[in-house]
Amino acid sequence: MVVIIHADASPEERTEIARALVAAGTQGALHPVHAAAGDLYVADGAAIGARARARLAALPGVVRVVDVPVPYPLASRTLQPARTVVPVGNVRIGGGEPVIIAGPCAVADETRIFAAAEAARAAGAHILRGGAYKPRTSPYSFQGLGAEGVELLARAGAAVGLPVVTEVMEPGLVGAVATHADILQVGSRNMQNFPLLRAVGRAGRPVLLKRGFAATIEEWLLAAEYVLAEGNPHVILCERGIRGFDPQTRNVLDLACVPLLARLTHLPVIVDPSHATGRRELVVSLAVAAVAAGADGVMVEMQPEPETAISDAAQTIGPEELRALVSQARAVRAALDGAAVLA
Ligand code: PEP
Ligand code: MN
Repeated sequence: MVVIIHADASPEERTEIARALVAAGTQGALHPVHAAAGDLYVADGAAIGARARARLAALPGVVRVVDVPVPYPLASRTLQPARTVVPVGNVRIGGGEPVIIAGPCAVADETRIFAAAEAARAAGAHILRGGAYKPRTSPYSFQGLGAEGVELLARAGAAVGLPVVTEVMEPGLVGAVATHADILQVGSRNMQNFPLLRAVGRAGRPVLLKRGFAATIEEWLLAAEYVLAEGNPHVILCERGIRGFDPQTRNVLDLACVPLLARLTHLPVIVDPSHATGRRELVVSLAVAAVAAGADGVMVEMQPEPETAISDAAQTIGPEELRALVSQARAVRAALDGAAVLA
């Protein structure tokens, strides 16, 4: 249940609403959410009886009481049926042409990130990616260039006119990364790092939220809810494969989640076939399949001379493959736009 109250409801009215929630048998916790358009959404997980609900709805300061049949009201389409479009510079993520994000797994040095940026732009990508703070399974693997890497990425993006996305792993670094990055990435391993989710929710930048490799769709949407509840409406979901049993691929790409999420949430959804498969020869096909399934875009690891990549070389494609990906993705989207659509 969600109680929507006027943004200018007085403290006394808010106290009365909180009391009525307690009297109705809920936890009584008002979770103020800094929602858009003047109204303040207050979510409370519990369902209440019809009479208590009517009493609540009649209180001064209450706009309406809404039943939301899922625990992620802000991410759900119940309160917001219209699709969210996330603006990033001149790029619009959601609802338009498929947005292509490309770049190396990790920023290696100035020469290579500038070359990757130029290749990404030339192939038709819209956004440049590159990890500077890398979540590595082994503490002995390359951990990324850190702050220097973020700055190099931003300079490379600016040089070719592309916005940039990079991962932030710690709440304490969100502010610093947000001064250079156009989109803040929360990685798979951090999908349920709740202090980090709250911090990026307050950072004033769009958030690319990757699915945890063992996360259910509901857990993923609840992670998005953390960001939305901090007042940041610009969350992009990124499916990147979930752990399976077959070592032939790094993960199992869950493409079913794409049309499913279109029903469950208004947030844009993109797909990362690089981490999903771990194999560069599979990346283009699955990127195109993702667009066919309705994805709003894809994110791929790409750099010139991909076999020399400092990390994730086996799944990194080259500029030629990116060019093929871009033209095939556009063709598939155009074919879908011209076809009859199932409701
Ligand atoms: C990445 O995109 O750089 C990355 C580390 O991916 P994931 O968090 O999905 O493993
Ligand atoms: Mn990688």
